[in-house]
Amino acid sequence: MAKKLQSIRGIHDGLPTEVAKWRNIEDVARKVFASHAISEVRLPILEPKSLFVRSVGEETDIVSKEMYAFEDQGGDHICLRPEGTAGAVRAYLQAGLTRAGAQRWFYMGPMFRRERPQKGRLRQFQQIGVEYFAVNGPVADVEMLRMAQQFLDELGIQQTRLEINTLGCSACRPAYRETLMTYLKERAESLCATCNDRIETNPMRVLDCKNKTCQAQLLDAPEVVAHVCDDCDAHFSGLKSGLDALAVDYTVNPRIVRGLDYYNRTAFEFVTDQLGAQGTVLAGGRYDGLVESLGGPATSAVGFAAGMERLAMLLPDVPEPRLDVVVAALGDESLPYSLRVADALRQQGLIVIHAGGGTAKRQFKIADRENSRFVLVIGEDEVAKGGVMLKHLKTGKQDFYRLDDAVQILLARDV
Ligand code: ATP
Ligand code: MG
Repeated sequence: MAKKLQSIRGIHDGLPTEVAKWRNIEDVARKVFASHAISEVRLPILEPKSLFVRSVGEETDIVSKEMYAFEDQGGDHICLRPEGTAGAVRAYLQAGLTRAGAQRWFYMGPMFRRERPQKGRLRQFQQIGVEYFAVNGPVADVEMLRMAQQFLDELGIQQTRLEINTLGCSACRPAYRETLMTYLKERAESLCATCNDRIETNPMRVLDCKNKTCQAQLLDAPEVVAHVCDDCDAHFSGLKSGLDALAVDYTVNPRIVRGLDYYNRTAFEFVTDQLGAQGTVLAGGRYDGLVESLGGPATSAVGFAAGMERLAMLLPDVPEPRLDVVVAALGDESLPYSLRVADALRQQGLIVIHAGGGTAKRQFKIADRENSRFVLVIGEDEVAKGGVMLKHLKTGKQDFYRLDDAVQILLARDV
């Protein structure tokens, strides 16, 4: 007996029903992004492993345990991209765009993280991401957030809330980090093992530990909002007043720290209660230091990524377009004419299946299964007279028509 086929846990097939939803999401994204003059980029799925180590950060979950990294036959250290921002920055730098003014990019495609598979958490998943380079000031953040909200609105996803935070910058964060570390060390015994590991390496991540006992210890942990420098404070005020001006609702959540090292100042998440623990559908923030840390000039940048599968879980199935007509050929002699008819109907914009000939019974069964509106029957008589027999399946009404007249009836789509 043949061995049972295996697939990798957390990696799913995109079958027609699912893909119809994805395409709907992509179409809405393209439309909304176009109104902000954002251009599409298509970036590689394979990247040098070092790119993510340098950008996302060695102590992050992504780099420390989630990357699909391997050595290829030539000895190069390669990685299936776990996220899109690092590759976008690499492309921006290598294309020599640092003096070309603001760049506004979006991408869509698969990302790979070796996570524990569960609802809303896959090992291959898709992101729709937006990155702005060389756009300074809170106005960009404000407009990006309004755009993200509009994207979710136009998809029909209503029950999300926007949470924002500021993460400070390289000037003010080190002092905050120290303050936080001192606070955490005093409570180390009551924190979980993961948090203990992070106290030294990535203390801010302790703040978003999902563990309830840890959260109880963190109730009055120092918040970065209260420790940022004047410039970061002004940026955050600008962000909030811009959102107010556009009537975009938000709450400040001092616990949002984002998992990746490169974020500074603005951090945000659109969250829903409908997906259990995996409730973040769209997330991002500013990463003004990343271009420079990868070897470019100091360049401001801000971006976000939305998880396509999580968005799809919030959306109803998209109804498949209804088949207009099934062409049934009776007898081998009528096949050539029936093929030409099917071809002509499609050129008129109709949705057509050729049932392939054989018995009338078999071909009507196909029309039934495909939920077609009409069956168009072509036998000896129809070929001789140069017309077609058209049967409306719901009413059972059928008549002989010239092809042109049949096309008009089908195109009217009123029965
Ligand atoms: P989470 O806190 O859910 O792990 P994250 O901080 O790792 O998210 P980002 O790296 O910011 O997420 O990715 C942006 C979005 O991509 C997430 O909000 C989510 O919608 C989606 N996403 C991230 N990881 C996965 C995954 N493993 N499976 C499915 N979607 C994911
Ligand atoms: Mg994650």
